[in-house]
Amino acid sequence: MLPPPTHSSDPDAAIRTTDDDAAHARLSATRKGYFNDPYIQLLVPRAQLVPLRSPLINIGTFIRSEAIDILLSKWVDASKDFRTVQIVSLGAGSDTRFWRLMDGLPVKDSIAKYVEVDFPEITTRKAMAIRKHAALSRHLGTGVTVERGGTTLSSECFHLLPSDLRDEPSKIFEPLLTILSVSKPTLLLAECVFPYMESSASSNILEWFSSNFKILGAIVYEMFGLDDSFGKVMRENLKTRNISIPGVEPTMDSMQQRFLRSGLTQVHALSLRQIRSALQTSGLLERVSTAESLDEVEELELVLEHYAICWGSRAEGAMEAAYTPWAIAEA
Ligand code: SAH
Repeated sequence: MLPPPTHSSDPDAAIRTTDDDAAHARLSATRKGYFNDPYIQLLVPRAQLVPLRSPLINIGTFIRSEAIDILLSKWVDASKDFRTVQIVSLGAGSDTRFWRLMDGLPVKDSIAKYVEVDFPEITTRKAMAIRKHAALSRHLGTGVTVERGGTTLSSECFHLLPSDLRDEPSKIFEPLLTILSVSKPTLLLAECVFPYMESSASSNILEWFSSNFKILGAIVYEMFGLDDSFGKVMRENLKTRNISIPGVEPTMDSMQQRFLRSGLTQVHALSLRQIRSALQTSGLLERVSTAESLDEVEELELVLEHYAICWGSRAEGAMEAAYTPWAIAEA
């Protein structure tokens, strides 16, 4: 008989540890006063023992989260003719966005369905945390069921779907066609997830969504352009943890081309460095300067120019115009 699989025999165990990185960064930034997020500590095991991260990581985490929140609420606003929207978060890990949205009106009433997809090990852990903490479960409403060995959670609005995103999209997302309506505006979020898979896999996902949903928005956040010395160090660091990043795009242009090839028609991309200056100009980064001081602005800018948000949409007929002015900050 074969021995039970251990972590070292499961190459995806290493990829799953990136969820801890993301959650610890968010926890740290919350403790430092960047966010008001009462939920993250409920999703991180032994949260009190997690050390604070560097100002650089806290600031990067804050900028990307703030920018995605802005894009999300503007997209919901652009969809107001439909009254409600659907959100699908790929590789959601321990993300708390659903709960933060549920705390905030008026967006709260606009979310008809919110689906999170991740490996079954991650969805199981999240389903357990939801059952354990009333602060998490109270936003799920009635009819919460946990099935398939604890890996799947369904409620009226919120769903956890266990899957390997490298599988065939029609197989992974088939259950969504019974949960979601194909004629309702649907927003896809992919934060720090596509680099871990071949770009054919992420393109297939985007294609599946753009051919199945009449109105689609997508927001992707990830590192890019790792062919320089900064990128080399990043790849090597990840390699020591057994993590490879085959799907990193070389440029922001190639990130946008991936969107266009997959059927999205209006596409945009900005590096985190560009977003930082746009948010600074609009006065949205005041919290950064009060939370902690940063000595190494140059180092921060070097890190920020290796991360980008790419966002885009596809809508049929007259609706296309509603999504045209979709921007993080007005110039
Ligand atoms: N989006 C979250 C977590 C990012 S960490 C955030 O920004 O906070 C990356 C997440 O993607 C992890 O939870 C990891 O398990 C998930 N992931 C990576 N590759 C995946 C795959 N092939 N299938 C499903 N989930 C995957």
